[in-house]
Amino acid sequence: MSRSYKELAVSSIRALQPYQPGKPISELEREYGVSNIIKLASNENPLGPPPAALRALQSSAQDLALYPDGNGYELKQALAARHDVAPDSITLGNGSNEVLVLLAEAFLQPGLEAVYSQYAFAAYPIAVQCTGATARVAPAFGAGADMPLGHDLKAMSKLVNEKTRLIFIANPNNPTGSWLPATALRSFLESLPDHVVAVVDEAYWDYVDEPDYPDTTQWLGEFPHLVVTRTFSKAFGLAGLRIGYSVSSVEIADVLNRVRQPFNTSIPAQDAALAALGDSQHLRQSVAVNNKGLQLLGEGLDAMGIKCPPSVCNFVLADFERPVGEIFEALLRAGIIVRPVANYGLPNHLRISIGLKEENQRLLEALGSIIARGTPA
Ligand code: PMP
Repeated sequence: MSRSYKELAVSSIRALQPYQPGKPISELEREYGVSNIIKLASNENPLGPPPAALRALQSSAQDLALYPDGNGYELKQALAARHDVAPDSITLGNGSNEVLVLLAEAFLQPGLEAVYSQYAFAAYPIAVQCTGATARVAPAFGAGADMPLGHDLKAMSKLVNEKTRLIFIANPNNPTGSWLPATALRSFLESLPDHVVAVVDEAYWDYVDEPDYPDTTQWLGEFPHLVVTRTFSKAFGLAGLRIGYSVSSVEIADVLNRVRQPFNTSIPAQDAALAALGDSQHLRQSVAVNNKGLQLLGEGLDAMGIKCPPSVCNFVLADFERPVGEIFEALLRAGIIVRPVANYGLPNHLRISIGLKEENQRLLEALGSIIARGTPA
């Protein structure tokens, strides 16, 4: 009788659902035979990588026979200057996703708990479950709230107990696009017991331009239990290189440094990230293109009667008020990849990343004709 290796896997891993990424362009080409595809599914930067990063990549190619500087000295120096913190408080990761996993590995184990919100970014449940710890999921605000589907900090507070070690707050959150103002977040952090490490995930920070939206990297002096994560994958346009980081107390960074693999970020990733930090023009342009796109998509969808909760990110969450499977399929056949979010418990929504103007217009036209055709019935 052949052995089941799935049965041999530890029970917390057997229970995992794998992360569902956006459909790759090459897969759509293979499966549907369509060309001229646009991908508005993974919140990538439609302008591409910063030119300065491309130049840095060319020269880093010469060093590829060498292991990277596992400590990422130069990049940490630049990030420390950017956030006005000590270099030793930075932890580099293979995407900020890896830093989230390091945090879970470092602070959780069976018998301990982590808290996050309903509709919070899908990496949190995976990271928590892998450790065998228990996830406590707080109900999010309802669709009619001021911040529809956003994190309800009071509900999250209620789940904190003596077993809680980690709390994940996405500000802003993916896939809802919702955000938390400084005042509410500050009093929440003040209220947390000191055995709880608070992770504020700011992957979309550079896109947000709201008067009361905080830069929590500036709060580290006040909150020793705070860890802020950022990424080069979104506004900095380097998702393919996989590089992100956290800023925390030196003590927490030291703990994370014990867990991480010795060479977790590559030479090209470190070099390109360093160059990207210096390419402020590309960053400004990326944010400007996103702002215009958010407006165009929001208005265009609204004109079709499709509502989106307010988003401060590089995507919108479109509510079709009925299951979206067939609309998603019809868009694929039109060569447009967006992201269904039924895995988040949102079967009536599609998450649509902001693209270039012509991509946003093509999406709106395709959706318009799908809806006009009455496809699906
Ligand atoms: N946090 C949030 C809220 C995200 O949406 C993402 C990417 N989808 C990440 C973290 C991880 O991004 P990366 O690993 O590319 O830095």
